[in-house]
Amino acid sequence: MGKVAVAFAAAAVLVSCSVAAVMVGRRIKSRAKWRAVVEILKEMEEACRTPVGRLRQVVDAMAVEMHAGLASEGGSKLKMLLTFVHRLPNGTEKGTYYALHLGGTYFRILRVHLGGERSYLDVQDVERHPIPSHLMNSTSEVLFNFLAFSMERFIEKEGKESNSQGVKRELAFTFSFPVKHSSISSGVLIKWTKGFEISEMVGKDVAECLQGALNRRGLDIHVAALVNDTVGALSLGYYHDPDTVVAVVFGTGSNACYLERTDAIIKSQGLLTTSGSVVVNMEWGNFWSSHLPRTSYDIDLDAESSNPNDMGFEKIIAGLYLGDIVRRVILRMSQVSDIFGPTSPMLSELYVLRTNSVSAMHEDDTPELQEVARILKDLGVSEVPLKVRKLVVKICDVVTRRAGRLAAAGIAGILKKIGRDGSGGITSGRSRSEMRMQKRTVVAVEGGLYMNYTMFREYMEEALVEILGEEVSQYVVVKAMEDGSSIGSALLVASLQS
Ligand code: ADP
Ligand code: MG
Repeated sequence: MGKVAVAFAAAAVLVSCSVAAVMVGRRIKSRAKWRAVVEILKEMEEACRTPVGRLRQVVDAMAVEMHAGLASEGGSKLKMLLTFVHRLPNGTEKGTYYALHLGGTYFRILRVHLGGERSYLDVQDVERHPIPSHLMNSTSEVLFNFLAFSMERFIEKEGKESNSQGVKRELAFTFSFPVKHSSISSGVLIKWTKGFEISEMVGKDVAECLQGALNRRGLDIHVAALVNDTVGALSLGYYHDPDTVVAVVFGTGSNACYLERTDAIIKSQGLLTTSGSVVVNMEWGNFWSSHLPRTSYDIDLDAESSNPNDMGFEKIIAGLYLGDIVRRVILRMSQVSDIFGPTSPMLSELYVLRTNSVSAMHEDDTPELQEVARILKDLGVSEVPLKVRKLVVKICDVVTRRAGRLAAAGIAGILKKIGRDGSGGITSGRSRSEMRMQKRTVVAVEGGLYMNYTMFREYMEEALVEILGEEVSQYVVVKAMEDGSSIGSALLVASLQS
């Protein structure tokens, strides 16, 4: 070998050595970055832990807060609002009734026709549309004019042959926000939640606003009841099965109501003497307890929301927020590591990742997780390896598992308060035999998160059995009520007429 050739060979060795060194260096670096990401996941998993012991503490806290909220006005973060609903539909109702439902994401209109027998419930023309986002921070006039206009279009479609023509229509207004009622058909808005921000509306009578807008359009429609969505779900549950005493909604937001004995409502003793029970709207989205597992992502989400320091429970269990928690974790990971490529600016957009996408990723059963890849691509993250896609699925799992399990603890808390959890409740003075006697209890559940996100539902139901134990669980039936909020509200109006 000549000198030149030797020098050339030596140079080639040098180059390949340094290439190898660079590659090893990169591998070490990328391993370190992967470790940083795994660390974030571990930390988050730890902060989201919900062992059954912790769930039981949440159960107790919920029951205690319920007592406090019933004892005095402002006595708890749980408002425990009186709905003035003393009687629920029992199946004998007859006639045609309407419901207009303003949810957090959708508004719905439907008509029910009742034949006087439980089995004769005909739900007609269910219309469901997304609420145009500009309405969420417009004015009350714009919002209610829109609802009245939608109602008018619905009525027009009924055509001349409809047998309700010429008769005043009785309407339930299902309203999924906190209201202080003064009767079943009137009440003022306490505050907005779920991203709505029409401040001049707070303190106004919600039913009156809708009635005014309907009148302005010359519609012969009577707003006969103002109904919280949970109360609608309870009404439909009770209509089908009188063992239904609790209703919970897991949709954009989350809330629960239940049937309470009037003598347990200390704060309104004078007001409620005639009937034995009344439906209480808990507004449980605002529940808080130091036992709730909270992460830095939750704290940031709250601080950047339209209602900071409010609705703490809702922000860890409801549909509006789960997607945003997952987004925050992915963003954080992409900031400490390049496993998601260069940080996509879209990852910094609030609420850009919807909970619908979280469930689609979580339940992606393609071998290569193509759905995860597609959704990440929509977020400006493309071409990530399979192990990174698996990591994203894991994040969805951690966030949703915590939500489902805490939702179960909330339900068990209500059961505890009313003595249906097998422990005899936290009220003293129950006899031993009463404690042992377990009544069949139906919990009506509805909302898009529960109806469409199988893993959420399964985690919730599994945790409920874990908390209550196999034996008591046999007496607790969770029943899905599709469109229960709207249908049940119409049934409630029907029951007022009979
Ligand atoms: P609203 O809250 O307006 O009454 P829904 O009860 O239908 O409406 O709930 C809608 C919410 O449910 C969505 O905003 C979303 O958070 C959640 N959701 C709907 N579909 C799914 C799904 N497939 N997976 C996960 N969450 C879903
Ligand atoms: Mg709803």
